[in-house]
Amino acid sequence: MNIENQNFLDAERWAGRAFFADWQKTTAGVADVTDPSTGAVIASVGIGGPADIARAAAEARAAQKGWAKMLPTDRARILNKAADLLEQNGAELIPWIMRESGSIYPKAGIEIEHGALFIRHAANLATAPMGLMLPAMDARTNYAKRVPHGVVGVISPFNFPLVLSVRSIAAALAFGNAVVHKPDPRTPISGGIIIARIFEEAGLPKGVLQIVPGGADAGEAMCVDPNIAMISFTGSARGGSKVAEIAGKHFKKVQLELGGKNSLIVLDDADLDIAASNSAWGAFLHQGQICMATGLILAHEKIAEALTERLVTKASHLPAGDPSSGQVALGPIISDGQVKAIQEIVDEAVAKGATLLAGGTHDGRHYAATVLAGVKPGMRAFDEEIFGPVACIATFETDQEAIDLTNRSDYGLAAGIISANTSRALRLADELDVGMVHVNDQTVNGGPFAPFGGPRKSGNGTRIGGPADIEEFTTWKWISVKDAATLYPF
Ligand code: NAD
Repeated sequence: MNIENQNFLDAERWAGRAFFADWQKTTAGVADVTDPSTGAVIASVGIGGPADIARAAAEARAAQKGWAKMLPTDRARILNKAADLLEQNGAELIPWIMRESGSIYPKAGIEIEHGALFIRHAANLATAPMGLMLPAMDARTNYAKRVPHGVVGVISPFNFPLVLSVRSIAAALAFGNAVVHKPDPRTPISGGIIIARIFEEAGLPKGVLQIVPGGADAGEAMCVDPNIAMISFTGSARGGSKVAEIAGKHFKKVQLELGGKNSLIVLDDADLDIAASNSAWGAFLHQGQICMATGLILAHEKIAEALTERLVTKASHLPAGDPSSGQVALGPIISDGQVKAIQEIVDEAVAKGATLLAGGTHDGRHYAATVLAGVKPGMRAFDEEIFGPVACIATFETDQEAIDLTNRSDYGLAAGIISANTSRALRLADELDVGMVHVNDQTVNGGPFAPFGGPRKSGNGTRIGGPADIEEFTTWKWISVKDAATLYPF
């Protein structure tokens, strides 16, 4: 795919720079951005360290009050314009997302489509009612209004870099917060430059959005910065735990959207062709590098063999390779280290008695669609998030056993249930200790209008999207009004 066409993105503007009040050089230097499939350098960006974060946070704080005082309709207009620009320039931007994050065309297209949906959802939030009249506690008027936190720090991962950045950024901006955003340094264009460009062209006042690509040191600097009031973090449980520890110590609100080991429960009354298709999509989309990926296929023992056969046939027909060829279903894994981590988990499962029925090998960064049957608790393939294209099949005898196998996970993000009997599936759904359950669908589902997130190592009780955004990106301010001040006893 061609990334030479740059009418909108305009690399001249941002090459070697980050987005402060304007495109500027950083103190921490410049880093190349590479295509994970080929290793080719596709761009360079400014990389931020703690000094750059301090600068961005101070500039954002200075710009925030003016932004919050703008009419909500004006904030909404700018957000909607940014969504329009994202869609209008999709044809130019999709190849960048494909090259930088190793995405096949449909996945890159989903990022544009959902990115615009999240921004439009945020635009609507800007004009939502923002408070409550409170019951009288004495002879005065009391009301409570929702107010922005101030500056929100957003930290995002490499896998769905555009959507997972913009869903926090747009919601924070809608309510009058300013934002300092740190995309993963491996995906600074999809997770940062594109977002800066659409808001720059949409007329967002200078300084309100600062985008500084950087590593963990930059992220940790955000967690201690006195000008930042809240951290919205999407990433691993390990990263999130560190962020919560540091930001908590510095009295910041923390929103954590973390990993998952998500069960797809296939009941014995399911249509097996459809169940196999759901299993393959949930386990293999974007090489399994999705927090909501189907990490465990729990198949009723009566249908497990027939389902497995169908899934193996599918896996063997899904080629892995360079997405830019337009000929593959699976793109590259983000790093060599991650390829090694996937291989270790697969090898350990086989050593402990699981059966490898497809894949289990890789050609460089391209890991083959893999099917492991006979996966059991105690194997890392059962217990851990793999973040690779590995379908792990385990069996159960009773519905209660499927519930128990799901609920024993350290994570609790999403689950899916495939059954011809919706009432039976809903009974199961009620018993699953996860944040999101999809009846008659696999586990990869998200969108702007639903509260997204889950318990245990999947998050810290916060949610993102839909009705959750007002809770997360604003706080309360109580105002009480007496007609005149009155005397106290002393
Ligand atoms: P990661 O935690 O290593 O990195 C995510 C982001 O956090 C990056 O920007 C990184 O630079 C930053 N970071 C890492 N350590 C940090 C620290 N100590 N302080 C501050 N910032 C730090 O995650 P990853 O492995 O790159 O991403 C994949 C993980 O993200 C998976 O576990 C996946 O399930 C999860 N994820 C969750 C969601 C969700 O919405 N729940 C969505 C996508 C991915």
